[in-house]
Amino acid sequence: MAEKTPLLQQGMPPPQQGLPPMTQAPAVVVVANTFSESPVSMTCPYCHTHIVTQTSYVAGTLTFLAAGGMFLFGMVCCFCVPFFLDGMKDICHSCSSCGRVIAVHRRI
Ligand SMILES: [Zn+2]
Repeated sequence: MAEKTPLLQQGMPPPQQGLPPMTQAPAVVVVANTFSESPVSMTCPYCHTHIVTQTSYVAGTLTFLAAGGMFLFGMVCCFCVPFFLDGMKDICHSCSSCGRVIAVHRRI
């Protein structure tokens, strides 16, 4: 009595795509949507150390758009407020070991 068991062949995992081989260009800053406001645990592409990224807030497109909009709508006295609000700024992820910028999370 031969039992027919379904063959569960797991194919090869799909090849990684969308990731070109990293070159060693020192000034490359990755603009990635996978980064968020939270620090990310990863391997630094520069010093190859396993690190948790340090985040800092930098003025970005949304910051300038908000400030420009406030200025245009007559809020001249407080148009610079977006520059003091972290929620309006981009998040810059840098290496906690070598200090280089790894990625920037843009709000727009
Ligand atoms: Zn590093």
